[in-house]
Amino acid sequence: MKTNIKVPFALGIGAAMLSACSGNQGQPGPNIIYIMSDDHAYQAISAYGGILKDLAPTPNIDRIARDGMRFDRCLVTNSISGPCRAVVLTGKYSHLNGFLQNERQQPFDGAQQTFPKLLQKAGYTTAMIGKWHLMSDPTGFDHWDILPGQGNYYNPDFITKEGRRREEGYVTELITDKCIKWLEEARGSGKPFMLMMHHKAPHREWQPGPSELSLYQDVTFPEPSTLFDDYSGRGAAVNQQDMTISKTMRLVEDLKLYRDPSAPKTTGLNRMNPEQAAAWDSVYNPVIRNFYKAPPEGDDLVRFKYQRYLQDYLACIAAVDKSVGEVLDYLAETGLDRNTVVIYASDQGFYLGEHGWFDKRFIFEESYRTPLLVKWPGVAKPGSVNSDIVSNIDFAETMLEMCGVEVPSDMQGRSMVPLLKGKHPLNWRKEHYYHYYEYPGSHMVKRHYGISTERYKLVHYYYDVDEWELYDRQADPLELKNFYNDPEYGSVKRKLHKRLDGLMKKYGDSEELAKSFLPEK
Ligand code: CA
Repeated sequence: MKTNIKVPFALGIGAAMLSACSGNQGQPGPNIIYIMSDDHAYQAISAYGGILKDLAPTPNIDRIARDGMRFDRCLVTNSISGPCRAVVLTGKYSHLNGFLQNERQQPFDGAQQTFPKLLQKAGYTTAMIGKWHLMSDPTGFDHWDILPGQGNYYNPDFITKEGRRREEGYVTELITDKCIKWLEEARGSGKPFMLMMHHKAPHREWQPGPSELSLYQDVTFPEPSTLFDDYSGRGAAVNQQDMTISKTMRLVEDLKLYRDPSAPKTTGLNRMNPEQAAAWDSVYNPVIRNFYKAPPEGDDLVRFKYQRYLQDYLACIAAVDKSVGEVLDYLAETGLDRNTVVIYASDQGFYLGEHGWFDKRFIFEESYRTPLLVKWPGVAKPGSVNSDIVSNIDFAETMLEMCGVEVPSDMQGRSMVPLLKGKHPLNWRKEHYYHYYEYPGSHMVKRHYGISTERYKLVHYYYDVDEWELYDRQADPLELKNFYNDPEYGSVKRKLHKRLDGLMKKYGDSEELAKSFLPEK
């Protein structure tokens, strides 16, 4: 959506806003736009550097880093979609907010306390647009317009209070247009606003939009050094997962290599209209013909799949990056940028071939860490970088404090406002607690919980195995070695066990509790 709206700053913020919410030092609380994509790896954001930054840059997302703060160690509590979303809303671990896993899951209990409800009470107008994925209707929002479940890339359905309807277009562009339309309304409401703008992209099956179809078709991306990880020296969980590019990634559904290009397509591509389908076929049919002429095998097939995967995944991100640019431009054109916080995050991280994987779930860095960029005009120093351990369990608390709203004592994270102001409180967390539940289930990553410090991780895989692993990111940055039974790590191991016990106690979690509300083996 192209906007050419020029309004003076005073009109841009809305006069009544000054009395609607009082933030720090009596200043009006800021507006907040929380942008969250789905499965966007930090390795695929150029502001984070990495091997893809020159070939697939994200100049608009990088604007948030340039004008604000980049967080380099933002860890999620449970690396999977719905649970991450529930943590962001509640500021509570999965075992307390009740949303533990995507599959076999009761809907999110929308009657519980969430930060959008608290902002509403404080005079904010609130909206949730895009992927919701919590199975119950959103609560705490004046306006919501969500995708059902995972949603579709092409001509997706949306659900509002009025019901469900199909809309023509590409999902990332539709969500962007809806958000800017709502921002226009919010701007005239006389209230400060908080918008949750949740993209579906770049979630599997990575279907690029009409404008990005051919963007990376001729690009060859560098491979991560662990693309051919053989999992030696690590336990059952790492060895028995089902998320490798080599075995799990599907040629047809994931990589769109339909042997007969004229055969009916699946996984949502069957929703394309004739014009969209023709544009799609013009790009993919030559790829298909080339592939089946002489299909690669063995390691060459893995390499080929990795390239196809990244070409599509990164093309989906290019549309997200454009969307972020449109929102930032809109804010600048309306003068809202001066009093609007813009946060960019993903629901969790993702593997781009590291350990031979795609998908997420594990406590290893690529899926455990999520990108987090925060632009807070006049507060967060432009171009600043923070490497403290922060978490999605802190997001609710942070947004509440930004808006001058008291943080409830039963939230389990901590406001990052001091960090955004450039401070480093001595008592900031030095360790982080993780717990993943979804097993047996898609990708068969075993249930595990663990502690991460700046240097070490101690992980317990439980349920159908009883295995411990200890990782040392200083000695082994790629996390390829389990030091748990190494005598040299005896003292480190004992200390980590003690700290993990302490964290579980602090957050009210235990193995017994986990087993009590999960189905029998
Ligand atoms: Ca996700």
